[in-house]
Amino acid sequence: PQIADSLPARPKPGLVKNAAFTWIKPEESAEFELLAVSPAAFDSIGLKRGQEKEDSFGRLVSGNKVWEGHYPWAQCYGGYQFGHWAGQLGDGRAISLFESTNPTTGIRYEWQLKGAGTTPYSRFADGKAVLRSSIREFIVSEALHGLGIPTTRALSLTLLPTKKAQRETTEPCAIVTRFAQSWLRVGTFDLPYSRNDRNLTRKLANYAIEEVYGGVDNLGGPREDGEPDGEPNRYELFYREVVRRNARTVAYWQAYGFMNGVLNTDNTSILGLSLDFGPFSFMDNFDPSFTPNHDDSSLRYSYRNQPTIIWWNMVRLGESLAELFGLGNLVDSPQYLSSGLQPSQLEPLTERAERIIDRAGEEYKNTFITTYQSLMSRRLGFSSQRDSDMENHFTTTLDLMEKLGLDFNHFFRRLADLPISHMESEDSRIMASEHFFNANSAVNMPGLAKDKANEKEKAKKEIAEWLGKWRERLGEEEGGLDDERRQREMKKVNPRFLPKNWVLDELINRVQRSGERDILHKILDMSLRPFEDHWGPESEWAEEDRLCGDVPPQD
Ligand code: AMP
Ligand code: MG
Ligand code: MG
Repeated sequence: PQIADSLPARPKPGLVKNAAFTWIKPEESAEFELLAVSPAAFDSIGLKRGQEKEDSFGRLVSGNKVWEGHYPWAQCYGGYQFGHWAGQLGDGRAISLFESTNPTTGIRYEWQLKGAGTTPYSRFADGKAVLRSSIREFIVSEALHGLGIPTTRALSLTLLPTKKAQRETTEPCAIVTRFAQSWLRVGTFDLPYSRNDRNLTRKLANYAIEEVYGGVDNLGGPREDGEPDGEPNRYELFYREVVRRNARTVAYWQAYGFMNGVLNTDNTSILGLSLDFGPFSFMDNFDPSFTPNHDDSSLRYSYRNQPTIIWWNMVRLGESLAELFGLGNLVDSPQYLSSGLQPSQLEPLTERAERIIDRAGEEYKNTFITTYQSLMSRRLGFSSQRDSDMENHFTTTLDLMEKLGLDFNHFFRRLADLPISHMESEDSRIMASEHFFNANSAVNMPGLAKDKANEKEKAKKEIAEWLGKWRERLGEEEGGLDDERRQREMKKVNPRFLPKNWVLDELINRVQRSGERDILHKILDMSLRPFEDHWGPESEWAEEDRLCGDVPPQD
């Protein structure tokens, strides 16, 4: 119990060697205001709703309370930033408080305060998080969860009214209390590998297997079609599980048009969770080369590149673990640890590791495609899956949206509303195609089309043609065209609301400038129930009512 008190409150930043974390206390803040909690997060973690009103809750999530016997810590990790090795990074402004287990589900979570002061990993930065980015992280964590996309979660958002941080302007600070089953990332393994700290690499891998995944049995077994290199060892099974989970998550991002914006290895979870939300964005008008990151001039983190980049990160993880793949059980023996063997002296094993990484790549592709196909089929209202859909329907959908500058999410939700079975004639489909435009559509943007009326007619024809093919495909389903069933199914997977950037900008303005609070609860509620139909005219935030904050002037 005394350790937490005797900890140096703010050790100097520096290199931390032979360790995966550092004990560190959060910084206290005399003044704080609990702005919001996520009811869904309370359920996940096993807290009772209303418990946020307890005095100790507010003090806990504002960094003012450390339970006796708890020793908060910050994690040590490295990472490749924009493809370049950046050395030691670590939690520069996140401090883990403790782990807790939901008594009903048995799931254990690690609680973390983001923005609770400097740590040895802060480098040149201030350890603070501004309210603006905290609102963004709080909302998007819960929105991704609401969509069914694997993600780290947000429990609460706390304003620190007297604390300011210098960014482009001076801004108020906040703390997001977030949680995940684990905060380990690819970068956690990058760092000891870069230092040739094989002992730590092995310990971390064992920790991940035993503590994070709950043992080898939870890792997924050997391939059904056989293992050309013999029985995979625990480290290989672990690696392949991480690869498959990440493949699945990227497939969700692609199917829902979500972009993280900074997919460095330190932001890639070993549980395949969406992690670390900075300049993220949901796609507006479909543009595959869009990146939400203003510094990303090479479009490394654009929508189109996300699957490739996550695989690039998975290869880095494979390299860190490669030695462990080859050595089987030997790796735990004292002889091995003291042997001083360098990876380069293990040439035949390295070749074996390369084959393992290549085969994991196949699993990555297969998992990605299977998940993506299943999601896109459902988004388009197909209850059956066909390989030919990829070319005949998914690609053509994306091409159409890109060509006509249609809003990615709005398009699907519109389809869900359409009584297509009655639209036998081309004329009726041309009429219906009007609904696919909005203020944000290319045809409505000034300057894009000289002869706008003519352009729009052409665009409507193209949409109508696409609708005809879609209708044909739906007609081939078992049970034929059945609007009622299809619309019901489509509305379960096509959100009516997404926290687009314009929504978040307005939310931030109203909370920060106008001191509004209710709006935060409203947007959180919509984020947690994005598929609800009734975010209707009463909500100025729902997709259909306004699609873009920056509606161009109509001429
Ligand atoms: P990110 O780009 O968010 O993945 O952060 C990269 C690294 O910078 C991580 O080690 C962060 O902890 C650290 N970092 C970012 N912002 C701050 C800050 N305001 N204070 C301390 N460390 C920070
Ligand atoms: Mg990060
Ligand atoms: Mg960040």
